[in-house]
Amino acid sequence: MIIIAFPVKNIHEYIENESYLYIDTPSGCPNCNYNGKLYRHGYYCRGVFIDNNCIDITIARVICPVCHKTHALIPDFLVPYFIYPLSVILTSLKKIFIDGHGTTYVADEIIKEFNLSFVKEQNISYFKMRFLSILNYVHSFFANFREYIETMNSLSPRTLISNICKYTKEKLKFNLHYFDLMKVHFFKKV
Ligand SMILES: [Zn+2]
Repeated sequence: MIIIAFPVKNIHEYIENESYLYIDTPSGCPNCNYNGKLYRHGYYCRGVFIDNNCIDITIARVICPVCHKTHALIPDFLVPYFIYPLSVILTSLKKIFIDGHGTTYVADEIIKEFNLSFVKEQNISYFKMRFLSILNYVHSFFANFREYIETMNSLSPRTLISNICKYTKEKLKFNLHYFDLMKVHFFKKV
């Protein structure tokens, strides 16, 4: 299973510092009721698109001593099962739902802003579709915070993306906090 576990500033810091080697193993198994520390259990590689390249990122694995299930410790700049980093996904959603641009236009903007020449309109449409399917979850996440209460009578994607932008700016660790509170990762298919 997945555990969002690394609050890191960016992908480069994660790679340069080899953060996956030094993180404390988390407590609590997402599969069973075991509450103690999980044990290190090797590494694997996965790709992420940055700077016109597919870069290999090392991911640490842990194992639960009770149910023996292994879990991947995913750094919070990634979205599980997506090859694009969270920043690309959130920027695309912001351009669609806040700035009101179409998916073709947004694809061109992402190509320029993130230096990712292979981004297609279909990628952006996919981000849009996935986000629209999880509005209820994102809404429930923000219902936990008093400062977002005035936004809670609406399920509008525009409001929810604004909330994510605000949260990211003020507290930074949106992806990590979302996982801790919701017990599923942000952008998980429902
Ligand atoms: Zn377990």
